[in-house]
Amino acid sequence: MARGPRYSRFPAPVALELQNALNAIIDELVSESERVLDLIKLDYQALVRDRALSFANRHLGLDRIERALEELREKLIAVTERIGVYNAIKKVTELAARKALKDIESDIKRVVRKPDLTLIFPDKAIRAISEARIRATVSTVKTIPVQFHEALVRTIYDAATAGKSYADLAKDIRAIYDTTRARAQTIAIHELNDTYSEVTRQRHKEIGIQHVRWLIAKDDRVCEICRPMDGERFRVAELERRGWPPRHVRCRCTVIADEEELKEIFKK
Ligand SMILES: [Zn+2]
Repeated sequence: MARGPRYSRFPAPVALELQNALNAIIDELVSESERVLDLIKLDYQALVRDRALSFANRHLGLDRIERALEELREKLIAVTERIGVYNAIKKVTELAARKALKDIESDIKRVVRKPDLTLIFPDKAIRAISEARIRATVSTVKTIPVQFHEALVRTIYDAATAGKSYADLAKDIRAIYDTTRARAQTIAIHELNDTYSEVTRQRHKEIGIQHVRWLIAKDDRVCEICRPMDGERFRVAELERRGWPPRHVRCRCTVIADEEELKEIFKK
């Protein structure tokens, strides 16, 4: 199916060539923005706005995207000069490029501002794994009465996919059964972090990340236990043995993919 604008005003062969040129470019723009999003999602497990933003800037570089679009624009202009409808196509291309940039921008904003973890669950298999995992970790918490397990699994799963904060999940937990705020917080922190950590692990595995960097939560309630590991680079195989976050009660550490490896993957 042909996509993009149509040019019925032009003679058929010209219109077809235009249409094909535009389709090719739109495809390139779309795949470019998808790759960009993939990389953002990849590092988005922590749901930390600043980090996701600086990640986007450092690795993907909005200027880099703009450069790519500029190149595409030039390519299309070369085609249209050849077939002699320069002005018409130039305008269309600019609009298409602007739209693609806008799409990328709004996608980034959506991912950054309103965490939507369904984006980083690539398929049902990972959903299933996550829910099963939540069920397993919930059942290990001795203080949760058994009759509330299923309701909790549902609530935690929903909170994780909606990108809720620890505090909001803790509130939801207290609405299910009577427990202290501190205890609900502890459960919320552990469950959300464990879920994100597992999804991250799966994502890294999928795209072949071999090395990760350990990051402690950067605020006044840092993980004292994990502090010595902050910024340390680990082989994934080693973490598989030593354990991913959360490593202890109230651990809010995360791991991110090794920057150099990500860059290599992005280059391909
Ligand atoms: Zn920790």
